[in-house]
Amino acid sequence: MNKKSLFYAIALAIVAFYLVMTAFYHWGDATAPQITLVEPFTQAGPTTPLVLHVEDAGTGLQEVTVRLVQNLESYTLAQEQFSAQSPLSIGGNAENSYDLTLIPFGDDTIPKRRGLVTLVITARDYSWRGFFEGNWARIEQDVTVKFTPPRLEVLSSPLPVSQGGAGVVAYRVSDDAQRYGVRIGETFFPGYPNAERAFTAFSLFAFPHDLPASTPVLLVAEDGLGNHAEQRLDVPVVAKRWRSRTIKISDRFIEQTVRPIIAQTPEIDDMDDPLRNFLQVNNVLRKRTADQLAALASNSRPEFLWNGAFTQLSNSQVEAAFADHREYRYGGKVVDKQYHLGFDLAVTKHYPVEAANDGKVVMAEYFGIYGNTIVIDHGYGLQSLYAHLSSFATEKGQRVAKGQIIGNSGMTGLAAGDHLHFSLLLQGVQINPMEWWDPKWVETRITDPLRDPAREKPAPAPRRGPRNRIGPLPPAP
Ligand SMILES: [Zn+2]
Repeated sequence: MNKKSLFYAIALAIVAFYLVMTAFYHWGDATAPQITLVEPFTQAGPTTPLVLHVEDAGTGLQEVTVRLVQNLESYTLAQEQFSAQSPLSIGGNAENSYDLTLIPFGDDTIPKRRGLVTLVITARDYSWRGFFEGNWARIEQDVTVKFTPPRLEVLSSPLPVSQGGAGVVAYRVSDDAQRYGVRIGETFFPGYPNAERAFTAFSLFAFPHDLPASTPVLLVAEDGLGNHAEQRLDVPVVAKRWRSRTIKISDRFIEQTVRPIIAQTPEIDDMDDPLRNFLQVNNVLRKRTADQLAALASNSRPEFLWNGAFTQLSNSQVEAAFADHREYRYGGKVVDKQYHLGFDLAVTKHYPVEAANDGKVVMAEYFGIYGNTIVIDHGYGLQSLYAHLSSFATEKGQRVAKGQIIGNSGMTGLAAGDHLHFSLLLQGVQINPMEWWDPKWVETRITDPLRDPAREKPAPAPRRGPRNRIGPLPPAP
C-alpha cells in the first residue's frame, strides 16, 4: 500500500465511522419529547393561560403544535417549527426545550368554542425513527370553556349611604363566582355567604369620604376565568361637607411630639430639620399606617363578633370629628393638609378607655402617628382603633366585651394633649363612627337588611346615568 491509498483508506474509515455514529445517534434516539402542561386546567375562560413546557433530551425538537378540537373540527392555536439540524451532525444546534404561554380562548380570531373542547398538543424530535419521521409525543386535555359571567341578583332594598358612611347589600350570586363584592372607585368590599339567610351573600361597604358623591356603587362578581358581572346599585349617596380646621405647628410641638415618634419608628430617619421631620411623620408615616391598617383588615374574621350599637367613650367631649379637613400652618405658611379620620374624645387625664363593642384584639402596640394603639376586630372587615393611649389593659389575641376597659387615654404619638383618638374602619377604609354609635342606624341600615326576609324585594331595573341624590348639607357642628 502506498502512502496515497493509505490516506484514502483512513479518510474512508473516518467518513464511514462518522456515518455510523450519526446513524446510531439518530436511530438511537428512541425517546419522544416530553410535553408538560405547567398549570393544568379543566375549566377555562377568556383569560385562562396555557403554559407549556416541551423538552427533548436526544436529537432535539423538530416541531410543536397546539390545537383545539371540538366536534371533529380542529383549530391550530400555535405551531412552531425548529430549524433543521444537519443530518450529519451529532448533537449540536437543535432546540432541546421550548416554553410557550398563550391565552387559548382570549383570541377573537378563533371562533369562540364554548362547552367541551379538547386541547391537543403534539411534538416530535429529529430522530430517524418511524421512517425518518421522528418520535412523536401527544397529550390531550379536555376543557370546559365558559364565556358567561356569574349571575347577580340584589335582594335588599337600596338604602341611602353617606359620604364617609357605611351600608350593606344582600344579594344572590351564582356558584361559579370566585370573588364577589361591592366596588366603589378603587376600593373593593368583599362579599361573604350570609349565615342568616341560606343561599345568599352580603357585603358591608363604605363610601370613602373623599370620593365624589356621583361615584357609582357597583356590585361585581368574577369567576376567575375572565368573565365579569357588574351591576350598579341603586344607592342614593348623601353628600357631606366636612369641617375645616387650622392647626399651628411650632418647633416646640415638633420637638416634643414628632421627635419621639421618629425615635420609636426605625423606618423613619431623623432629618434634623423640624419641618421636614413633621412632614415625614404627618405625611409619609400617616400613609404607611393607613396601608398597614388595610393589611390588618384583610385578616378580619368572617363572622359578626359585635352586637348592637357601638359606644362612644363614656363622659367624653368631642374635640375633633370625622373627616375634619386640617390645614397645618408652620411659620405662617400652610405646609400640609390632611383629613382627620376619627373622633378625638377627651375626658380627664389617663381616663379608662372602654371597648366600643365585642371583638378580638388584633393590635396592641406602638403604631406610628397613633402612638400606643389598640385595634379590635369586629369581624367581616369592621375594626375599631384606639390611639394615643398611655397604657394597655389588654393584649393581642384577647377577646374583649363591649365596655371592657382596654387601656388608658394619653398623648403618645401625634397628639397635643391627653385624649382618645377613636376610629372605625371597614376593610381598612376609615368610616364615620357617628353612624355606628346610633342604635337606630345600626338596626335599620345594617341588621335589618341582613336578616329580615320580609323586607326582601328585588332591586328595580337599573336606570341610565348618574342618579345619586345629593342630600342637604348638614349644619356645621
Ligand atoms: Zn385624632
